[in-house]
Parts: sequence; structure tokens; C-alpha cells
Amino acid sequence: MPNPIYDRLFAPLIDMSSSLFLAPVDEAAISGTEFLAMVHRAAGALRARGVRAGDRVAVQVAKTPEALAVYGATAAVGAIFLPLNTAYTAAEVDYFVGDAAPALLLVDPARADSLVPIAAAHGAKLSTLGADGRGSFRDLCDAQTDVFAVEHRDDDDLVALLYTSGTTVRSKGAMLTHANLLSNAEALAREWRFTSHDVLLHALPIFHTHGLFVATNVALLSGASMLFLSGFDLDAILRSLPRATVLMGVPTFYTRLLEAPRFDRVLCERMRLFVSGSAPLLAETHVAFEARTGHRILERYGMTETNMNTTNPYDGERRAGTVGLPLPGVEVIVADPDTGAPLSAGETGVVEVRGPNVFKGYWRMPEKTREDFRDNGFFITGDLGCFSDDGYLTLVGRQKDLIITGGFNVYPKEVELLLDEQPGVLESAVIGVPHPDFGEAVVAVLVAQPGATLDLVAIDAVLREQLARYKQPKTLEIVPELPRNSMGKVQKNLLRQWFREGFKVDATENP
Ligand code: AMP
Repeated sequence: MPNPIYDRLFAPLIDMSSSLFLAPVDEAAISGTEFLAMVHRAAGALRARGVRAGDRVAVQVAKTPEALAVYGATAAVGAIFLPLNTAYTAAEVDYFVGDAAPALLLVDPARADSLVPIAAAHGAKLSTLGADGRGSFRDLCDAQTDVFAVEHRDDDDLVALLYTSGTTVRSKGAMLTHANLLSNAEALAREWRFTSHDVLLHALPIFHTHGLFVATNVALLSGASMLFLSGFDLDAILRSLPRATVLMGVPTFYTRLLEAPRFDRVLCERMRLFVSGSAPLLAETHVAFEARTGHRILERYGMTETNMNTTNPYDGERRAGTVGLPLPGVEVIVADPDTGAPLSAGETGVVEVRGPNVFKGYWRMPEKTREDFRDNGFFITGDLGCFSDDGYLTLVGRQKDLIITGGFNVYPKEVELLLDEQPGVLESAVIGVPHPDFGEAVVAVLVAQPGATLDLVAIDAVLREQLARYKQPKTLEIVPELPRNSMGKVQKNLLRQWFREGFKVDATENP
């Protein structure tokens, strides 16, 4: 029975007796064949928990091969994989579970107590899977056989639901089909020359499109091996580099590597490709990286809704400060934001995308979906960009005021709404300011009610409790009033200028 993602990414592992996951240091390696058996047992466990074709499986667990097996297992049962950022608080998870109505919520055992009532309130079952691979789900896997009858799915059926940000206000579930993911994995594997000889150094999270689909799907499709690190750990990266051929990272990875004196050409001898994306890579990082290693970082551009859209060429010029050329089969235009009419090279407009990579729409948001698609099928990304005469795309900003910090998206509105509820706060504005390590840092600007004195320590404590760490402002600033234009709109560009200067950053902090 056909099931495109399972058939192309997982079924071929049956013949991979070599390591799919290489042992980082002292752990046992896992062969492709063994991993496929894990996928089958996990699929059996999902079925045993009542998961059926079309159901959502929400997963908030540590990055492990077992967790990745749940992705394959979800595809095998014909269900829809919904990965959640491990930083989300219980209140945030509550929103996603309420919105997506998953049949099963899979969480870390340490979080089970706080999430059991949430799962129950939304009619989801709950199972656990820990960073050590243990938990009630694992016990259930162990009771299954290695054989699984895979569910029939078509190209156009959903296989994943990825939320575009962590907001409880506007977070939208992007519905991704088998064909969306496969077409993109095929294009990237070809463009980036992936083969079964590659060893991907995988240090990205697997709850986001970059680490889950760009990295993992491409590796699985090409029969490559992975050095699967639980996160970005500089020492582990430096130790692993001599065994790897490809690294995929966010710009922060590259600035961190450059800060390490031990990072040099010799460590990169086996490497053939460094890929960057999810946030702008500074041209100066590109230049410094080449000077240190002899490698030109290949920058690409994509988003949760579209998978990858453009990439710098593998063989041609990798142009610093640009995100390269449209992927084969993907149409990318820069259009007039009001009319959607394509603009000429050199003109700045909104980036729009059409192709097999583009998602099916927002989960249970038909109106929002209609708003974001043109009648001719182009998806309006909200990114602003400009093509060069020879077809390279440069991104110049975002239509909305989305903040991207350490590769993660923060919608200012979500933080502002929380700030506005705090005692003595009249209004607030949340902005991103340039940060050497995270790309942007979140800064909150507050206006007090007349006569009120703001308790910044208390406000900060509330933010820490309610928001994932990367969304928490690095600083809270008080101003007498917010600058507004004649239409009454807050001028965030002015605020950004005010707080760009003199803003102290702690570059040693983790995103
Ligand atoms: P996400 O959906 O989390 O992957 O975020 C997608 C957004 O990240 C895009 O709409 C862009 O604004 C931004 N983005 C992705 N790749 C790049 C890049 N190479 N340079 C600049 N921004 C990027």
C-alpha cells in the first residue's frame, strides 16, 4: 500500500546494515535496519494507543533517535506528526493541544504531571518518552513486534502539522502533505549533492522544519548517516566535525564556531558542505568563515509553510548576504504587496512562492489561508526581498514585525499582550534589536499608567513563568510614551533605533 513518506524515507532502511545514527562517543550506534524496527514498534504502540489515520500525534520530547522514530511511526499509521518546541510551557502546550485536538500527546516523563490535566481536558491520551529513551511509550514499543502493516496514504494527504510560532494568540498550524515534504527533500538532496557516503552533523532541534525536514529528510532520502547531537554543544560539535561531511545550522552556530579558537581548517578536512538558514547570516560571518576554514557557507531560505524556497548554488557562486536562487520546481517571485504583480529585478517587494513544496493551508483557519494565498496560487510569505539581475534573492526584512532570535520566531504581540496585563502597565511594544549572537534580541518597551511605578522585577518574573525562554525579553525599558505616526500606529522602527544603541547583550547565554 503506498505511503509516500514512509516508502521513500523509511522503508529503504531495511537494507541499511551500516549505521544510520553513528555513536557520538560511547553510545551504541544504530543501523538503518534497527531504526526501521524501532519505527515499526513505535507504529504498533501508536495503534495500541488508539491512533488512527488522520489523527494528530503531538510530541514534546527530547531529541533522540526514539523521538525521530515516532515521526516515521506517525507516517506509517497514516497520522499527522505535530512536533512541539521543548521550551513551551504548560500554558503554551495547552493552546496547541486545544487547537490541534491530537489523539495522543507524547511528553517527557518529568512533565507528565503538569500535562496530564491538559491532555485530559482536550480528550487526548498521554504517554511518556524521556531523553534516556524510557517511559510508558517505550514500554509499549517493547511489547510490539518489528513488523507493521503500513497505512495507505496519498501524495496529498497530511503527514505533519507544524505551528509557525509559539504564540497563543496567532500561532497557526501549517498543514504539510507527503508531497510537500518529499518534493523538497528530493530537490535539496539533489542540489546539495547528498549521497550515502555523507555523514550529517545534526545539532538542530527536531521540532522545527529545519532540523526535522531539511536535515533529517534529506539524510534519510540519501541513505546518509547522522551524528545526532541532542543540541548545539560547542565541544561536541568540535569533537564530531572530523567525522562529518555536512553541517546544517542557524547563523548562531557559525558565530559560535568562529568564537572558538580551536575551530580550524584541520577539523573541517572531511567536511564538504556547511549550510545556513532560518535567519539572516551576516555577510561578515560568511567572509570570516571562509578565511578560517576555506569553506563558503551555503545559505538557503525557507519557512515552515513552504519548506525551502531558494538556495545558493552548490557549484556556482555562493553569494554572501543573499539566499540564492529558486529551487528547481519552485516558483519564487518578488511582488507588489498590494496587487501581487511581479516586480522587476532590483525592486523590493513581498516574496511569494508557488510549487509542490507549498503547504495546504492553515489548520482550521480557512480565512487566514485565503488571505495568504493569491488567486493564482502563490503563497504570500510576508518576507520582503529583491532579486538581482542574475536571479539571486536578497531578503531585506519582514512585513510584519516578527522577531527571530537564535533561529526561533517571536511574535511581539504575544509578549505585548502579557505585558499589558501587568499591574501599572499602560501599554507596551516589543521589538527585536540586532544581537551579535542571536541575530535579534527581544526588547520590551513599557509605558506606565499615570502615577504608577512599574515593578520590573515582578513583571520579569511573570514573563519567565509564562513564556518559553527564547521569547523572554532580554531587557525591559520604560519610556514616557510610545512614538506614533499620524495614523496612530506605533513606530517600531524608531523604537528599534532608540534601543539599538547602548543595549547590553550577554553573548554567552544560550538561545
Ligand atoms: P520558520 O517558519 O520558523 O522557518 O521561519 C521562517 C522565516 O525565517 C522566513 O519567513 C524568513 O523571514 C526567515 N528566514 C529563513 N531563512 C532565512 C535566511 N536565510 N535569511 C533570512 N531570513 C530567513
